[in-house]
Amino acid sequence: MGNVSLCDAFKRYDDIVAVNEMTLEIEDGEFLCLVGPSGCGKSTTLEMISGLTLPSDGTISIAGDDVTDDPPKDRDIAMVFQNIALFPHMDVYDNISFGLRLRDFERAEIDRRVEQAATIVKLDGMLDRSPKELSGGQQQRVGIARAIVREPAVFLMDEPLANLDAKLRVHMRTEIQRLQKELDITTVYVTHDQEEAMTMADRIAIIDQGVIQQCAPPLECYTRP
Ligand code: ADP
Ligand code: ADP
Repeated sequence: MGNVSLCDAFKRYDDIVAVNEMTLEIEDGEFLCLVGPSGCGKSTTLEMISGLTLPSDGTISIAGDDVTDDPPKDRDIAMVFQNIALFPHMDVYDNISFGLRLRDFERAEIDRRVEQAATIVKLDGMLDRSPKELSGGQQQRVGIARAIVREPAVFLMDEPLANLDAKLRVHMRTEIQRLQKELDITTVYVTHDQEEAMTMADRIAIIDQGVIQQCAPPLECYTRP
């Protein structure tokens, strides 16, 4: 179970309302894209689900539990960002396993999960490489593997493909989509790219000035009558 609910989630920064009483139900296993212009509140919404930002008002629930005041580490989530920021002095294995080592997983369990994740993102055989020996797409896949090893109920992705060239971006769209369906992980994916949202999402939430204007499957969002 990994459904995510926002109930009247509200976030104010001084005199700016970033997210305005947003209510949204993301179903277990669903791939939901948040789209909208720069500054409309996409990242803030994701940050409230992750716990990196606390809402000024309203509640956030994951798998039916109110997590509004829980720190990120107590939420069953993993995040992938635009700037993947791998640790340059650690090899691929250490980068992927970092979160598990922090949480005191046993060595055998870490090995098992890292190998499984590396196979899923097609990085097997590269675990002893240094990040600087990898292409941009391979680095991005390390970032995704680092999220997968946590085996979270929810994936939060903020423009994970924005720094890649066009060809790789299209390739990685398919990869992420395949993984998401295979692992059945509820996913909230931020992009400003309508085409990306169209090809990846089960549902798209179009946001403007902190408010959801429409939330529907891709064809309903972008087909004119
Ligand atoms: P998006 O991700 O859609 O570009 P954001 O959620 O980053 O939008 O930002 C929404 C609004 O909140 C913007 O007006 C932005 O400038 C403002 N904002 C976001 N984070 C902060 C912050 N830490 N301090 C002040 N204002 C912020
Ligand atoms: P994105 O490109 O994902 O919308 P931004 O580049 O707008 O993200 O913001 C990156 C970070 O800076 C976020 O953590 C956001 O909360 C913060 N931020 C955004 N706008 C402001 C602002 N006006 N003042 C302070 N922090 C901000």
